Amino acid sequence: MIIVMNAPTAEELGRVLAKIRQLGLEPHTMTAGGKTIVTAIGAAGHDRCEQFERLAGVERVVLVQAPYKLASREFRAENSVVAVSGVRFGGENVPVIAGPCAVESYEQLRETALAAKASGAAMLRGGAYKPRTSPYSFQGLEQEGLAIMRTVGRETGLPVVTEVTDPRVVGLVAEHADMLQIGARNMQNFVLLKEAALAGRPVLLKRGPAAGVEEWLMAAEYLLAGGNTAVVLCERGIRTFETATRNTLDLAAVPLVKHLSHLPVIADPSHGTGNWRLVGPMAKAAVAAGADGLMLEIHPWPEEAMSDGPQSLTLANFRQLMGELARVAAAVGRTVQYDGKGG
Ligand code: PEP
Ligand code: MN
Repeated sequence: MIIVMNAPTAEELGRVLAKIRQLGLEPHTMTAGGKTIVTAIGAAGHDRCEQFERLAGVERVVLVQAPYKLASREFRAENSVVAVSGVRFGGENVPVIAGPCAVESYEQLRETALAAKASGAAMLRGGAYKPRTSPYSFQGLEQEGLAIMRTVGRETGLPVVTEVTDPRVVGLVAEHADMLQIGARNMQNFVLLKEAALAGRPVLLKRGPAAGVEEWLMAAEYLLAGGNTAVVLCERGIRTFETATRNTLDLAAVPLVKHLSHLPVIADPSHGTGNWRLVGPMAKAAVAAGADGLMLEIHPWPEEAMSDGPQSLTLANFRQLMGELARVAAAVGRTVQYDGKGG
């Protein structure tokens, strides 16, 4: 049971909490956008909705069957639109986030960002803290990478998203980025999720390579329950028996999760395939399937990239793809910015 209260007094809230405890349930309270939302988990509340509806300060009471309460469509029927420094995910437009896997240097990021912007990208990506399978691989420029990210973002006017891998640096990353990325490997790092919920920045939550849809939505629930409602989900491929591609991009999850949840869902066909030749076709398929955005790895010289070169588009490939995406989007009643036109 979820009880939505509109700016309740301490007394009004106290009465609701006391009544929940009387039922033997433990309330969880969070505030967002001027509303106080009290969640009470357990069957005991199911026939008590009306009693709660009558209490002062209560706007509405919703019964949610799904275990992910605040993330579910049952709780919120309309699509949520998440704004990241003016870029809106979940509306008619399909923003494209582009950039290198890793921030390697100021020159590399600036060249990438200028080309991305000229081709219609809405946001810049780039990893400063890289979660690598091998401890001997390039780990990212860390603080220096964050500073480069912020500088290039400001110079080009592109909002930036970068991954945070460690709860201890959430505040630092939030000072440098417009949006925090929780990577696939950390989707169930609950300490990190709780910390990111408090960072005051929108969060891009990638699906874990071995996570089911319900586990993914429960991870999103950690952010929402922690008071951060600006959550964008990202399908980036899962591990299956198929080894011909780096991951199996589960595109059916895009419309499925949009049915189960009100949160925007974007797709990352770069990690989803691991092969630059497959990125364009799968990016177009994702837009056709209803994705609310794309994340694409691009690099000015992919053959020399310090990470994920084989799945990175060149700047020219990206430019061409943006034109194709605009046409696919138009066919399904959406828009993709292209050349700064259209948006
Ligand atoms: C990334 O976006 O660079 C990344 C490491 O992604 P994922 O967490 O999806 O592997
Ligand atoms: Mn990468």
